[in-house]
Amino acid sequence: MIEVSNLKKSYGELEVLKQITFDVNKNDVIAVIGPSGSGKSTMLRSLIHLEEINGGSIAVSGHYLVMDGVYSKPQEIKQITSKMGMVFQHFNLFPHLTVKENLEIAPKMAKVESLAEIQRRSTELLEKVGLSDRAQAYPANLSGGQKQRVAIARALMMNPEILLFDEPTSALDPELTGEVLQVMKDLAKEHMTMIVVTHEMGFAKEVANKVMFMDNGEIIESGHPNELFMNPKFDRTKAFLNRSL
Ligand code: ADP
Ligand code: MG
Repeated sequence: MIEVSNLKKSYGELEVLKQITFDVNKNDVIAVIGPSGSGKSTMLRSLIHLEEINGGSIAVSGHYLVMDGVYSKPQEIKQITSKMGMVFQHFNLFPHLTVKENLEIAPKMAKVESLAEIQRRSTELLEKVGLSDRAQAYPANLSGGQKQRVAIARALMMNPEILLFDEPTSALDPELTGEVLQVMKDLAKEHMTMIVVTHEMGFAKEVANKVMFMDNGEIIESGHPNELFMNPKFDRTKAFLNRSL
């Protein structure tokens, strides 16, 4: 579904991504782990064109977002990135819109579906994330866990084929992480393809079919969670896991 090869990204002298190569298959749940500053967010943001890379290729379902460092035309980029939804650490909800309006604004602007269909789906998705009763609330009046569940529902409104999560529970009080992880587990059960940057090793073990360990702009190793957590091959992975588990 996604093919990433030899991705490179620098900020001035600082090489943030060095020859990152990996594939995402349909129905994969990939957990990306690694220390702060290792390039996890930059990698994720590159996939959806929130960052421009300096070299390498990204193809989604066979269509190149960027090939050998050369980006496709804006119209094509838009079409490719529209297959992906992203959920951020800090929710990024529109504060002046209600929960329901947050879900509906992008599809309304896209004008692909009828208003009735958009409203039907926002109702359905709010129910799915357990927030039907908060449809008319404003983000400021929600808990962090509720905000993140709204953000997930909002991403789902665009019918993404792939969901990207960048530390979706890192800004939450510990008692609120469970409700967000549960929604993500439900999505995985429904075979949503997901890439999840996370510090939640329990989630990675239980839900992911592949874990990628990044350090210093590189994928040091990747594999099935049982393998990577139980038998890490590299000292850097071992040291990180010893600190995190
Ligand atoms: P992670 O998500 O793993 O914590 P990031 O992808 O956010 O790592 O950052 C990787 C490196 O890139 C860090 O050293 C960070 O300081 C640097 N970096 C990220 N964004 C920028 C930016 N806009 N300008 C300069 N350096 C940046
Ligand atoms: Mg990050």
